[in-house]
Amino acid sequence: MNIKISYSPYQLKPQHLLNSNASAEERSGFLLKVEWPEDGRVGYADLHPWTELGDASIEDQMSDLRLGRMSSQIEQSVWLADRDAHMRKEGRGIFDSMPSVRNNFIVTDFSKVNEELLAQLLKQQFTSLKVKVGRDLAKEARFVNQVAAKGFSLRLDFNAAASLSTVKKFIHDLNPSTLSKLEYIEDPIPFDMEEWALLRQLVPLALDNQFSRVDWSEVTAVPFDVLIVKPAKIDVSKAVQICQQFKLRATVTSYMDHPVGVMHALGIAMDLKKKFPNMMNDPGCLTHTLYQMDSFSAAVTAQGPYFMGAKDVGIGFTSLLEKLTWYKLKTF
Ligand code: MG
Repeated sequence: MNIKISYSPYQLKPQHLLNSNASAEERSGFLLKVEWPEDGRVGYADLHPWTELGDASIEDQMSDLRLGRMSSQIEQSVWLADRDAHMRKEGRGIFDSMPSVRNNFIVTDFSKVNEELLAQLLKQQFTSLKVKVGRDLAKEARFVNQVAAKGFSLRLDFNAAASLSTVKKFIHDLNPSTLSKLEYIEDPIPFDMEEWALLRQLVPLALDNQFSRVDWSEVTAVPFDVLIVKPAKIDVSKAVQICQQFKLRATVTSYMDHPVGVMHALGIAMDLKKKFPNMMNDPGCLTHTLYQMDSFSAAVTAQGPYFMGAKDVGIGFTSLLEKLTWYKLKTF
């Protein structure tokens, strides 16, 4: 079936540093509008590469697309746009007859978190904090101990930027009561079967951006407990199949991208929770607040860890998306 792709560039301004590999500069991405002229469907998705984490640049992906080659990331965006287009055509929204999901609170810069904010988060019914670590491990261990003592459960993410010895030292610096509140450590070090197996004896582990380093066709058992499912990056049905095969739990997260990407991830999180309630952890889609507010994030309503559904179709934002300037790119 023929498709037509148009794009609309955007910028996001981070409130704080976003992870151990990224700077605080403005982040660029493209919203994609995908049309299926044969049945009149239109759907939208985000394209937000993280070159710091190994994605091809937006320029490279778009110039490949002009030549008729779709990067795997654009393939995911088109798949999500297709999902959105079906819902729009049927007049359904992502929230329709879906279970509500409780999201973790994300901490990209722990130095900005004080007692007052933690008290506020507890009051708002957040139960789980995801903390990006790897900049100052001694201070981060103190912070994590402090947060666990307040009763939060924790997800820590090193973005594979640490070494085995530093992660071991970090875990050693955590209180036993903190360890009991630790849901998992995500991508502690670059993926390695033996080294991850050593760490897994100490704490539960989650695999995220190290996914492509696992030789999936060869392994019969894996040294981690959770798969992070980012619909912006990973084939969702393949991820589900892997979780079933290796008896893993799954956490759906956004890609710290545009609110369009956030709502797509949320839609998948709700969908998978409905289909596989016993496999799914609470998701981590509440990331639009990491950036300064724009018209899209202003249209997203969340109460504590929960998103509130808007009266709209597909992933929402209909009037905002229709007002954007779209540049024609390609017909396939
Ligand atoms: Mg991660």
